[in-house]
Amino acid sequence: MQDMTRIRMLALVTAALLAGVAMVVAEEGATQPTQPAATGPATSAPAPVRLKVLCSTFPIYLFTRNVVVGRDNIQLDLLLPAGVGCPHDYVVMTKDMQTLAAADVLIVNGLGMEESLTKPLKQAKADLKVIDSSAGLTDLLPLAGEEHHRDQAEKEEHKQDKRPPNPHLFASPRQAARVVRNIAEALARLDPAGASVYRANAASYAARLEKLAEEFTALVATLPNRKIVTQHAVFGYLARDAGLEVVAVTQAEPGQEPAAAEMIELVATIRRTGAAAVLTEPQYPSRVAATIAREAGVPSGVLDPVANGPSDAPLDYYEKVMATNLKTLKELLGPKDR
Ligand SMILES: [Zn+2]
Repeated sequence: MQDMTRIRMLALVTAALLAGVAMVVAEEGATQPTQPAATGPATSAPAPVRLKVLCSTFPIYLFTRNVVVGRDNIQLDLLLPAGVGCPHDYVVMTKDMQTLAAADVLIVNGLGMEESLTKPLKQAKADLKVIDSSAGLTDLLPLAGEEHHRDQAEKEEHKQDKRPPNPHLFASPRQAARVVRNIAEALARLDPAGASVYRANAASYAARLEKLAEEFTALVATLPNRKIVTQHAVFGYLARDAGLEVVAVTQAEPGQEPAAAEMIELVATIRRTGAAAVLTEPQYPSRVAATIAREAGVPSGVLDPVANGPSDAPLDYYEKVMATNLKTLKELLGPKDR
């Protein structure tokens, strides 16, 4: 690094002396003037177009990484910090605007997940190409409400359902497989030369995710009690696909803890419905949910929807976390040894 800088400086000084002009030493940290690129080796093939693809959320980034394995002309980055989780109320920073402006393509979760990004996104780069990973998917669930309005009278009120869809497809392996195939098809259209790579990767990854989905269904079929309480609507699809029943969520708004009166109501709901456990998520603090579980006399445990994760997550991170979730469900809800 040091040597390279010195060589570059030397080259600049030499060039300046040769040209007979005054040399202005750039301040440290200032941008170096762009020198004409050295001629590349004559033997190498023409460099392929490098696509700068940005993913909005951690799970979409992880899925896309699996889809582009072996395709070198894609530069893949994650917009939100990996640890953030669902960006329901994410505040866009100047740094994000710069990242967006530099990207060619943005792959989003869709279904309203990136609502807080919509406006800044247009400001950052009006012509940024956006791939909606949930485009065209059917059998969507409505967002929230369902867990809170289980009484028949209240259900009737919601017959004319205008609620937005639940955006948390990623937390169900079955839906994740559909999202993965969707991403592969969108990338294949964008970069036809890589189509076969994207489709082959997606096929094998989606097959593994579907196998996981079957394991969830098989496990849930053995559970004596399939009623659960979750923190927010993140497990809606996993519950539906695997046969679990979410009887309540502890956060009416994602990230917003229940007030004292709501906590009392939640404890009553757990007792009335006979829910088996309260599940918390690594992306939110679990103290309040644990208190509710203790009050209601049911166990609580962590189920990870893979909404967030480590920035250096291995490619099989989703599969590993879901395998742990299977174990957790079995331990929490499975038949107890007596
Ligand atoms: Zn969420």
